[in-house]
Amino acid sequence: MNSPEPRHAKGSLLMQTQAPGSPAGSAAREAALFQLADAARILGLDDGMHAVLASPRRSLTVSVPLLRDDGTVEVFKGYRVQHNLARGPAKGGLRFHPETDVDEVTALAMWMTWKCAVVNIPFGGAKGGVTLDPNRLSAREVERVTRRYTSEILPLIGPERDIAAPDVGTDNGTMAWIMDTYSVNAGYSVPGVVTGKPLTLGGSAGRAGATARGVVIAALAALRDAGRSPEECTAAVQGFGKVGGLAAQYLSDAGIRVVAVSDAIGACHHDSGLDIAALRRDLAAEAITVAEFEGGQPITHDELLTLDVDILVPAALSGVFDESNADRVKASLIVEGANGPTTPAADQIFADRGVVAVPDILANAGGVIVSYLEWVQNLQAFSWSEEEVHLRLRNLMDIAYSEVASISRERGITLRQAAHVLGVGRVATAARLRGMYP
Ligand code: NAD
Repeated sequence: MNSPEPRHAKGSLLMQTQAPGSPAGSAAREAALFQLADAARILGLDDGMHAVLASPRRSLTVSVPLLRDDGTVEVFKGYRVQHNLARGPAKGGLRFHPETDVDEVTALAMWMTWKCAVVNIPFGGAKGGVTLDPNRLSAREVERVTRRYTSEILPLIGPERDIAAPDVGTDNGTMAWIMDTYSVNAGYSVPGVVTGKPLTLGGSAGRAGATARGVVIAALAALRDAGRSPEECTAAVQGFGKVGGLAAQYLSDAGIRVVAVSDAIGACHHDSGLDIAALRRDLAAEAITVAEFEGGQPITHDELLTLDVDILVPAALSGVFDESNADRVKASLIVEGANGPTTPAADQIFADRGVVAVPDILANAGGVIVSYLEWVQNLQAFSWSEEEVHLRLRNLMDIAYSEVASISRERGITLRQAAHVLGVGRVATAARLRGMYP
């Protein structure tokens, strides 16, 4: 597949970058490099700085042997990539997914670097992944994999070095095992090595819903910019996990009619709006999928993405919008809960059609903002109330949104380009000030 014509920078040329292709991991990495090249061109970065920012600082691949409950042994591949540390210690989630690979983890680490810089928190970017399907393993097996993976990446991590958090396929329980494994090796409790922990282990109030809350803050800000009120808008949410499930709830709480949601198995739809609280209750109480919810009619994954709604929130995996479906998307506002849901080709189509995309590195930054607050609380052995955390989250999201929106307006570029200009620019400035060793 060829690189999409780099036109959305209104009359400017993008640096030649290989277009994204398949499989998904290399497509994500190519998309991240494409976006960096675009920002480097707009910022006028020299080739040396561009090359530094395009290269992950460290990348560790490990083998993770697992003694299965039935006595057999299986070996998984794991990764931890630290992309850039110019602005502070590395920060990034851990993903357990059967299709994750080093390319995808590298792209996600790069996006984390820009995301932390966009919301102006003192972290560099990292990401971890283990190529496995946690649903295929027992809880004890997932625990053993987590502990062994943690012990293999011990030399890289720590509260001053690299701090993990939950992502796809991992949760607060996974973080508790990582914290325990690290602490046992250190000889004392080190809560600051992970964020997104259970509250009793030093987790922060407000962390569980932080990413979703940030997505909704970004969505409401974009609606305000478009002169629209939430009550007149409809939304569809792809993915009903930690981000999508709560984003649907908070959108609905804000007065937006959420007419469709999906999970990995299927999707459901109701024209006058789904009762999201009831859906979440039913999912928690019974072993059903969203398509089986009695308060809606089942629809396909593709139908959800092309529904006639105002707002579309992708909150599952990357590469969801590409040239095969971007021109069929009817929503006028896309708010990216997921990382990397829009390929550069789809981005171009959205820009040409006037579809506004609030990019992942801004829209889903609420999680890392509250992770930062959790880390600060851990370092001080102190805790803030949920209200205090919400207030700080809202404040940082609002500042970041308005900075990105004003760069977009002033330069006549998309919100994604503007977010990259802000994030990449801040990281390049820090790298320049620190200088090059030796
Ligand atoms: P999760 O594992 O909790 O949930 C993922 C959801 O997506 C599940 O409901 C799953 O069934 C669904 N899904 C998978 N494939 C799908 C498909 N083809 N169509 C529809 N739904 C599908 O993961 P999460 O933590 O909610 O993360 C979702 C996205 O948000 C990821 O891209 C992640 O990187 C990003 N993100 C997460 C956080 C966080 O704090 N958890 C922060 C920033 C970004």
